[in-house]
Amino acid sequence: MPTSPSAARAAVAMLTVDEALDRILARVAPLEATPVGLLDALGAVLAEDATADRDVPPFRNSAMDGYAVRGADVRQDGATLRVVGTIAAGTAPDRAVAAGEAMRIMTGAPMPDGADTVVRVEDTDNGTEIVTINKATPPGVAVRQAGEDLRRGETVLARGTPLRQAEIGVLASIGRAKVSVVRRPNVAVLSTGDELVEVGEEPGPGQIRDTNRHSLAAAVRATGCAAFELGIARDSADDLRHALGNAAFGDLVVTSGGVSVGDHDHVKPVVNAMGQMDFWSIAIRPGRPLAFGELRTKRGAVPIFGLPGNPVSALLTFELFVRPALLKMAGRTKLHRPRVQARLLDRIEKPAGLRTFARGIHDAGAGTVRSTGPQGSGILRSMSLANCLIDLPESSSAADTGDAVTVLLTDLPEDH
Ligand code: AMP
Ligand code: MG
Repeated sequence: MPTSPSAARAAVAMLTVDEALDRILARVAPLEATPVGLLDALGAVLAEDATADRDVPPFRNSAMDGYAVRGADVRQDGATLRVVGTIAAGTAPDRAVAAGEAMRIMTGAPMPDGADTVVRVEDTDNGTEIVTINKATPPGVAVRQAGEDLRRGETVLARGTPLRQAEIGVLASIGRAKVSVVRRPNVAVLSTGDELVEVGEEPGPGQIRDTNRHSLAAAVRATGCAAFELGIARDSADDLRHALGNAAFGDLVVTSGGVSVGDHDHVKPVVNAMGQMDFWSIAIRPGRPLAFGELRTKRGAVPIFGLPGNPVSALLTFELFVRPALLKMAGRTKLHRPRVQARLLDRIEKPAGLRTFARGIHDAGAGTVRSTGPQGSGILRSMSLANCLIDLPESSSAADTGDAVTVLLTDLPEDH
């Protein structure tokens, strides 16, 4: 049994970062599938197997502007052939090519029967009645075979594939004007605090601008999800209850502030009255207090994160805990940032016992990383200068210049 109050607290609530993340991920699930227009599928996860309705390309065609010929006729420089017609892209050849004949052909136009090779126009005299082939061309050159990209009936993209621009193109090529994707979460973002004013307002004595609502809504969007803003709730249970009533329209709720143990920290009791909130002390710096739970709504349970109020802590805990949850809800299976090793260029002190995420500048070419400077949890500049997080293990009390450290690459687009 723990003997002191602080030991008791530690025994009850102190979680590691990985334990907290496991608990969170165990409680969120992919959303349902929904049909969307092709372009709206960008960044979503495919919820069906996409099958080719026909061969792509659907017919044998020319890869060059030139002359469609029989390979046997162009084995030597200087061959001359009779030009028997022209085929543009979008038309069909009206005759075959026989021995000693050539047809002018444009890129993408169907190959005429009999021809198996295209001589580039640059390798000819560009003749209209008779063409001279200046350069011998090996048989089969510059012809694209039917189905060489995709075969009819083939599963071209499997369910679960994240859709980037290349996949949108592939889906277009198989005729999918609409596709079924995993719906992406719509996230409610709420700030709490009596001291907060809107961005456009002039802060009075003791007041500051609401930063978190904007950085967190932006973080939601950067994760490929939709954000809607619930404004600022004052530090009163009534105001918070009212704001969270609207949160129920979302698939997930993110609040910031009001989750410490101060006199005006109402998030936990209010959420407990409207659902259930766990309050965790995580062995992390920055961002130690984190609340996670669910609101009961008519539509079912809606997960809610109560993030700490300090602007760095709010964004950092979003990155580490909310982002993977949103990605899982959006149907992704790769939930975490790439991690690489890098050589540290400066010494970073940290509290032993807390896993610390220093904001860093990673130089991939040099394989080095340095901290962004002052790391206070209110110094948002430390994040704006950063392109990575330096992940320093719980046990250590410092990382030294020259040490190999683990770096999370946070600056990549969502497809990576
Ligand atoms: P709290 O967690 O509510 O005690 O807030 C911790 C610190 O973060 C305090 O200095 C707050 O003023 C600050 N803070 C809380 N919410 C915001 C916000 N939305 N934007 C900027 N700073 C905030
Ligand atoms: Mg507060």
